[in-house]
Amino acid sequence: MADKFAVGVDFGGTKISAGVVNVNTGQLVSVGKKKTRQVSEQEDVLKRIIAVIDEALLASEIDVRKVSSIGIGAAGQVNRQKGILIDAANIGVQDLALTEPIAAHYQIPTYLGNDVEVATLGEKNFGAGRDCSSFVCVFVGTGIGSGIVHNGELYLGSSGTAGEIGHMTLFPDGRPCGCGAFGCLETYASRTALAKCIVSDLQRGIDSIVRDKVDMTKGILRAKAIASAVEAGDELVIQNVVSCARYFGMGIASVMNFYNPQRFIIGGGLVDAVDLYLEVATKEANRRALRTPAKKLDMVKAELGDYAGIIGAALLSRSGAPALNMV
Ligand SMILES: [Zn+2]
Repeated sequence: MADKFAVGVDFGGTKISAGVVNVNTGQLVSVGKKKTRQVSEQEDVLKRIIAVIDEALLASEIDVRKVSSIGIGAAGQVNRQKGILIDAANIGVQDLALTEPIAAHYQIPTYLGNDVEVATLGEKNFGAGRDCSSFVCVFVGTGIGSGIVHNGELYLGSSGTAGEIGHMTLFPDGRPCGCGAFGCLETYASRTALAKCIVSDLQRGIDSIVRDKVDMTKGILRAKAIASAVEAGDELVIQNVVSCARYFGMGIASVMNFYNPQRFIIGGGLVDAVDLYLEVATKEANRRALRTPAKKLDMVKAELGDYAGIIGAALLSRSGAPALNMV
């Protein structure tokens, strides 16, 4: 099979990265990166994306004429048909037309999807879902999002928003969530939720070895710091990881009962770094779910890690998503 190359762009809240990907093998040939920055000028965003794509193309030493498509995975709500990023709270843009100007600039068909969707595509083709036809990918980060693959196809739902597992209600009068509701799963089980719980315990004076590793005002604590605290037997951190992971397992149990997939693929920096999280979540899901689906529970880590977004975005042309014509 002749090599076929595509560019994948991961447009996230903190950085834009792009790579040239061999779409037959999933091999990442080269990478370019830039910080996203909160920008108000839409043109500025496009310039930055083009600069990152150029950097990846240059480093790949592959003739741009050999690139068959460009795919962009953006953190936010997208209109796939029109190629517009509708709303991205973390990036600070609204109604940003992405595919048309990029396609016109490179004269290459360009596709748009959201970040969770493209990471799921990556796992489906070259990661933990390659031998599986019905699975749910769940990504634990700032929030909790999921992608659904049903009978070998990505299932997006009637308005393209399926998989919002993070906004499943756990407690009707619980913590306020960014979506406007209360007690959503992600306010109890995400990396952000875990960091907040740890900070609040530290503020109450409980001792921990992460005390000097946490940004107390912003509530930021890196997954690696959490992992080494767990390894060192730090009680405060272990207790909080266990409680967040239990909540996560409760959410998974509901999806197991409702959808009964062959497999759950769990990703995100926290899950990658802290084995305890997935261990506790698996136990809890097993304990809570109905007996029959629980018997077949297959819960594994995502395999593509940091580059899932780039590799998955490069595969958007295969997902049946519409490409915008080059202008
Ligand atoms: Zn919510």
